[in-house]
Amino acid sequence: MDIKGVFYSVVHSNVQLLYPPRCLMCGHAGRNGADLCEHCHQQLPFNQTACISCALPLPVGTSAGAVCGRCQKKQPFYDQAFSVFSYEQPVIWLIQQLKFNEKLAHARLLGELLANSDCVEKIKAEEEVCILPVPLYRKRMRQRGFNQSIELARALSKKTGWPMELNAVERARDTSAQTGLDAKARRKNIRGAFAVVEPLLQKHVVIVDDVVTTGSTANELSRVLKKAGVERITVLSLARAPLNK
Ligand SMILES: [Zn+2]
Ligand SMILES: [Zn+2]
Repeated sequence: MDIKGVFYSVVHSNVQLLYPPRCLMCGHAGRNGADLCEHCHQQLPFNQTACISCALPLPVGTSAGAVCGRCQKKQPFYDQAFSVFSYEQPVIWLIQQLKFNEKLAHARLLGELLANSDCVEKIKAEEEVCILPVPLYRKRMRQRGFNQSIELARALSKKTGWPMELNAVERARDTSAQTGLDAKARRKNIRGAFAVVEPLLQKHVVIVDDVVTTGSTANELSRVLKKAGVERITVLSLARAPLNK
């Protein structure tokens, strides 16, 4: 460690002493400098039973390796999808804090939960991989100041060493008003929203998003990527909405 590193770690450890990390959910002291205590961590709605194709949460007791009805009817353009949580409380609250209050501690916590989840271990990176956070429309990015998917992707990149791809794909249209639309209307609304503007160097793209609702955004992005020559696509999200929620 160089002198700068020593200085940083001394300052950092003193900051930790002055402000010991608190659990973001209950306010109690976190474990080993974590932002969430063990108890609250265990309460989180991990997406343990899910469709192996689209990560849709399935009823507990469904056999492993099950494919949901929708994927049986029509396969998505992506090859596999994983989601750390089912989109239920308290994960809804945690993600809303990140999105609308720009809480840096929440970004760090959610990034760690994504990067350290066993979903990441399931991604077989046989080819060269890059991470693609779902792009936001420029105006929305300016309004919000940051893209929550980039914050999550950054944590994943740090953990895995896979590079982030931030320039190859653009959001050509603002299609943020997906809320309140049913699956069919969402598909129609999102069509043509993405454009590949630079060639992608990697054969395997891991799309990162905070919340996947019906999957229509990830599917449209995957359609465009496959058309541009990407061979393998994994969708990794923090939370996937259960049906009818
Ligand atoms: Zn707690
Ligand atoms: Zn499915």
